Amino acid sequence: MTAERAADLFNELSIAEKAALTAGGSMWGMNGVNRLGIPALKVTDGPNGARGNGIFGSGRSAACFPCGSALGATWDPELVRRVGVALGQEAKTKSCTVLLAPTVNLHRSPLYGRNFECFSEDPHLSARLAVAYVSGVQDQGIACVIKHFVANDAEFERMTINSVVDERTLREIYLPPFEAAVKEAGVWGVMTAYNQLNGTACSANSWLLADLLRGEWGFDGIVMTDWFGFVDTVESARAGLDVEMPGPARMFGAALAEAVDDGRVAVRHLEDQADRVLKLIDRVGAFGSESSDDEKEVDLPEHRALLREAAARSIVLLKNRSGLLPLGGDAKVALIGHNAGRLQLYGGGSAQLRPHYRLNLQESLRSSMGPEGSVEYAPGTFVGKFLPLLEGPNLRQPNGLPGLRIEVLGEGGGVLRTQSSAHSELFVVTASGEGGSAVRATGSFDVLEHGKYQFSLAQAGGARLLINDEVLVDGVADPLPPGDSYMGFGSAEKRVAVDLAPGKHSLRIEMEGEAGAGGLLQAARVGFLPPQPSDMLSEAVSLARRSDVAVVVVGTNEDYETEGRDRPDMALPDRQDELVHAVCRANPNTVVVVNAASPVDMDWDDDAAAVLQCWFGGQELANALADVLTGAAEPGGRLPTSIPRRLEHSPAYGNFPGEAGQVRYGEGLLMGYRHYDTRDLPVRYRFGHGLSYTSFALAEPQIAQRGRGGDLKLAVKVTNTGARAGSAVVQAYVEPPAGPLFRPRRELRAFDRVDLEPGETGTAVLGFDDRSFSYWDPAANAWQLHGGKHLIHIGSAVGRYDHQLSVNISAK
Ligand code: BGC
Repeated sequence: MTAERAADLFNELSIAEKAALTAGGSMWGMNGVNRLGIPALKVTDGPNGARGNGIFGSGRSAACFPCGSALGATWDPELVRRVGVALGQEAKTKSCTVLLAPTVNLHRSPLYGRNFECFSEDPHLSARLAVAYVSGVQDQGIACVIKHFVANDAEFERMTINSVVDERTLREIYLPPFEAAVKEAGVWGVMTAYNQLNGTACSANSWLLADLLRGEWGFDGIVMTDWFGFVDTVESARAGLDVEMPGPARMFGAALAEAVDDGRVAVRHLEDQADRVLKLIDRVGAFGSESSDDEKEVDLPEHRALLREAAARSIVLLKNRSGLLPLGGDAKVALIGHNAGRLQLYGGGSAQLRPHYRLNLQESLRSSMGPEGSVEYAPGTFVGKFLPLLEGPNLRQPNGLPGLRIEVLGEGGGVLRTQSSAHSELFVVTASGEGGSAVRATGSFDVLEHGKYQFSLAQAGGARLLINDEVLVDGVADPLPPGDSYMGFGSAEKRVAVDLAPGKHSLRIEMEGEAGAGGLLQAARVGFLPPQPSDMLSEAVSLARRSDVAVVVVGTNEDYETEGRDRPDMALPDRQDELVHAVCRANPNTVVVVNAASPVDMDWDDDAAAVLQCWFGGQELANALADVLTGAAEPGGRLPTSIPRRLEHSPAYGNFPGEAGQVRYGEGLLMGYRHYDTRDLPVRYRFGHGLSYTSFALAEPQIAQRGRGGDLKLAVKVTNTGARAGSAVVQAYVEPPAGPLFRPRRELRAFDRVDLEPGETGTAVLGFDDRSFSYWDPAANAWQLHGGKHLIHIGSAVGRYDHQLSVNISAK
C-alpha cells in the first residue's frame, strides 16, 4: 500500500475503530474494520508447526517440525532458514498470516517445561538460529511474533511470577536472541511474557517495551500480549503494548477508547498502536484480501524431505564405544522401549499439533536394513503420566467408521451437529468464556482376552465416562480434583479398572455443565490400558539377549515436557532406568536413544555402548533415526545445552523455579556452560559436544579479515580424515583478559558447519564483531569493548579445543 493510501485509511478511522484494532476478535483472530476493508489477521502457534485452530492436537493436521531444542542441536542457520520458509508455507494452508514463533527463551534449568520450544542455553546460538528462522518465515510474507519477551524461563506460577534479573545478565544472556531478531531479521512482532520483570509485568513494562525495544533497538513492529497475559489498560498502552490477545477485548478495545476519552491515555498512544496494526496488515500483504478461516491439510513431499533432513541433523551422537554405530545391514536388532513403539514427536501445550502422519520406527528401521537384518520389538515397560488414548483401528463409530462419533447437543437435548474424533479426547475452546456446551461422544472397541482393563478420565469442565452404558467416572456430579492435565487448567486423572470379557464393548463420553479454565475450555480425555504382562521387562531383556544389538528408546512425552508445568526432576519416568540397566547387562552392544527434548538423568551412561539424543524430532523422526542408526545419514547434531551429571550441579539449582512470588536469577551470567566451565565443574556431556561417524582435522586458524575494534574473520581449514561423509561444527569460544568486571571464563562467539566428503577439505569461516569482545557495563549503562589480549579457542565443544589464537583488541 502506498504511504498516501495508508494515511487516508488511517484518517478515516474513528477512535472506536482504532481502539478495536488493539484487541483480538477471537481466539486466533485479530480485529479488522469491515467498513474500510481492513481485514482481521488470523494467527497460529508456533513454533514447531502451524497448527491453525486446532489445540492440544485436535483440528486439522499440519506438518510437524523438529522442536526448538532439536533445531538448536543442528547448529545450522541455513537449514533453520529453510525450515522457516516451510513454516511460512504451512501457515498459509491454515489461512494464517501471523506465526506465534520462534520461542527464544533459554534453557536456564533442565526442568523448564518449555525447554523443548527453545533453541539453547546459549544466547549466541539462539540468536543465530532466531535470525535464520524469522528470515525464512517472513520471506514468505508471514509475520513472526517472537516470544516470550523476556525472562520467561520457567512455568511455575507463570501468569504472575516476578523474574528478578540484573540488567547486565539480561543484556548479555537473555536479551540477545530478541535483539538480533529485531535488528538483523527485522521481526514484525514481539509477544510479551506472562511474568513480571523486576517488579513490573512485561506487558506493561515501559523500560522493556518503550525504552529498550522501540527506543534503543528501533523495533517498528507490533507488540502483542501472550494469551490472557494482560494486567492494566493504562500502564500497558503507555508502555507501548499494541494488541491484547485473544479476543474479545477485555482491557484494550472499548476500555482503551474510554481511557483515551477521559484522558488517562494520550491519544497518540492509541494512534501509534492502530498505525502499527495497519502496518502489520500491509506487511503481510493482507489489504484487499478477504479474511478466511479455511484450513487445509497439505502434506508436501518436499516438506517431508526437509523434515527428515532436519531431524537427522539434530540427532546427537553422545558416545559410540568401539564404533558400534552405524549398525550393520545384517544385524539382528532388538528394538526396545515404550517410546520406540510410539516416538514422541512434539512437546505439550500450545505448540502441540496433529501431525500429518505417524511413522513406525520398527518399519522405518527394517526398511533401512539389508535383507539379512531383522528388527524385533518389545516395549519393556509402559511410560505415561496419563493412560494412552484409545485410537486407531480398535475405535469405531456406531456406523463402523474409525474413531468416535461426536454430537453437539442443543438446549433441549436435540442434536445440533455431528462430527467425529480420531481418538478418545474431546475439546471445545471458547475465547469468550461463554463455556458449557453439551457434547456426547459414542463408539465401541473390541477386547480379545478376558481381564482387567484400566480406563481413566481427566476433565476440564463437566465430563463423565460410561462403559457399556454404566457410569464409570462421573466428573459432572463429582468433579475430579485439579491436576496436571491441560497445562494445569484441567483435573488430575482418575483411573478405574474394569473386568471385561472378549467381544465388543461400548464407550460413551458426555460433557456438560460448567466449562473449565474460567469458562474457556471444555475437555475430556479418556485413557485405556489393556492388562499388562507382568514380565514385560524380562521379555525385553530376553529379546536383547538373543539379538546382536539392542536399541532402547527411552524418553518423556508431551505430558512431562509441556507448557504449564516444569518437571520435578530429571529422572526418566516409570521403570525406564531399570530397563536400560537390565538390557545393558543382557547385551553389551546396547544403544540408548533418548527421545526427550531436555536433559535427563543418565546413570546408566557407563554401561551403554552408544547413546543418541534425538529430541522431539517431528513427524519424520522415525525415518531420520533409522537413517542415523544405519549410517544412511550422519548424526548431525551437537548439544545446544549442557547435560549435567546431576540436577543439583545445574546453575539455577536453588533459584528455580522460584518461591514467594519471585524467581531470582541468582546465578547471573554463569548460566549453562558458563557455570560449569568457569567453575571447572564436571558435566556428563558438554555444550557443543556431538560425535560423528567420521573424523576431522582442523588446521591452524588464519586471519581472513581484520578491521577496527572487534571486526575479525577467521578461516579454519577442515579436512574429513575418515571414510564417510560428515559435517564438522567448528566452534569459537572467546576468553577475555582480566578486567574491571567479572566475566564468564569463555563464551561462544562464532561457529560454522562444514559438510565434507571423505578426504575433502573445506573452510569454516568464523566472524566476530565488537559484541564478541564486549561486556555490558552497568556503571556506564553501555556496552564496553573490552580492550586487551583475548584468546580465541577453536574446537568441537566448550573445553575441547584444537587451536588457540590470541587477538589484541583496542578499546575504541
Ligand atoms: C503461550 C504462547 C502461545 C499462546 C497462544 C500461551 O499459552 O504461552 O506461547 O502462543 O498461548 O496459544
